[in-house]
Amino acid sequence: MTLVLANLIDGHAQAPRAGRYLDVSEPAVGAAFARCPDSDASDVDAAVEAARRAAAGWAATAPEQRAQHLNRLADLVERELDALAELESRNCGKPVALARSLDIPRAVANLRFFAAAITQWAGESHATDDATLNYTLRQPLGVVACISPWNLPLYLFTWKIAPALAAGNAVVSKPSEVTPCTAARLGELAVEAGFPPGVLNIVHGHGAGVGQALVEHAQVKAISFTGSTRTGAAIAAAAAPKFKKLSLELGGKNPAIVFADADLSDADLDTIVRSGFANQGEICLCGSRLLVERSFYETFKRRYLERVRALRVGDPREAGVDLGALVSRAHYDKVVGCIERARAEGGTILCGGAPLRVDGRCADGWFVAPTVIEGLANDSATNQDEIFGPVVCLIPFDGEDEAVALANQSGYGLAASLWTGGLDRAHRVAARLETGIVWINCWLVRDLRTPFGGVKNSGVGREGGVEALRFFTDAKNVCLRL
Ligand code: NAD
Repeated sequence: MTLVLANLIDGHAQAPRAGRYLDVSEPAVGAAFARCPDSDASDVDAAVEAARRAAAGWAATAPEQRAQHLNRLADLVERELDALAELESRNCGKPVALARSLDIPRAVANLRFFAAAITQWAGESHATDDATLNYTLRQPLGVVACISPWNLPLYLFTWKIAPALAAGNAVVSKPSEVTPCTAARLGELAVEAGFPPGVLNIVHGHGAGVGQALVEHAQVKAISFTGSTRTGAAIAAAAAPKFKKLSLELGGKNPAIVFADADLSDADLDTIVRSGFANQGEICLCGSRLLVERSFYETFKRRYLERVRALRVGDPREAGVDLGALVSRAHYDKVVGCIERARAEGGTILCGGAPLRVDGRCADGWFVAPTVIEGLANDSATNQDEIFGPVVCLIPFDGEDEAVALANQSGYGLAASLWTGGLDRAHRVAARLETGIVWINCWLVRDLRTPFGGVKNSGVGREGGVEALRFFTDAKNVCLRL
């Protein structure tokens, strides 16, 4: 039976006003399994109007009350962890074990984190000698938009709506039309959790329709967006003349730098492999440029390839599968095309390099073998453009300066990981890298209190902890003469 999703507007499940729907695919079998509203500007207007009506009441609630709502929602997500993980896996193509261990638990953590954070947040005050007192009120913005991508659907959706709601805003959100299922279910759970009508609205549909209408809506005061650099630029262009607050978390082409002094354990190597191929390489933080010090290059390559070749690609429902299917036919075509381009640029395919057929239920799924390429310069298109799939390029370097130069030779600047046994070097290199995030001898270790975001074409603004609460509020200074 086809799953039919609804918008959440004013506390009710609503069909799109124009009655149009989009097919939603199950990538592992290459066929549609659900339909989501193909909403239009009239649905956005209704959602924004509901949010506008709800905003003042929600802003007036005590932080503890907002925290209670978020914690209740977290409880419900936890209650449904298995079902949500299966749905996420089915819609994205990712292994269900990954959705169960990463995506859904992180969604719970996001909700709980911002529930706790808002009860601990305080404004600043500045007293001066000449008898004045300044204090800063951090006031919610009113109606805000949260727009999220397809790769970590519930994880990134909650990462945005949790701080927005915690800070006292009413939200109109738009999940990716490619993977809308778990956000739709979260909307139902938000009603069960008792959120007042209009406080959280979810409108499904295409970016160019619903997304654009949301960004341009006069009542929407801020836009928190995660997605591609191209869409980020379009949103910035539309929002700038209206002076809306913008947080843009965009693409990446992240370097992982391995120095010869790294003394890598098997577990470290597993992490480096994961940093390229987790979630089929469809994580903005994946390291797709693997820079390896030349004196260690051949040894590293042998140990690395052994592990990559051992990765199991298969039915995401099966235990022990490391990589599932790519999220859509269009994305699969893009990734396969990028591998062809790497060949045309003169790259040597060390493993993978082709689509992969999985027998049985998944025979028509969109699978690509984990691919490792060498012999391409860092300034090749393969090493400059984001591929966002299971494709990693090995690039040798000589010495610290060249490693830093190659790492920074990119239009992007999201994250980097570096592997070294030298403490001095680790700190020196971390400080020189043009990225918003650096991991030393680890990858994707997240403390939700830390600032998260990129530089250059990877975006503007920071999410996480206090940064997110600041984004979703306006600071008002009040000066009192004593
Ligand atoms: P995308 O830009 O195509 O879409 C993201 C969201 O924006 C979707 O909900 C889409 O419908 C919407 N959208 C599209 N056009 C719009 C418009 N004109 N106005 C408003 N909304 C619009 O990105 P995607 O393909 O879904 O996601 C993959 C990209 O996301 C990759 O580039 C990846 O690096 C990036 N990403 C970044 C981070 C980060 O934290 N920096 C995290 C995850 C993914």
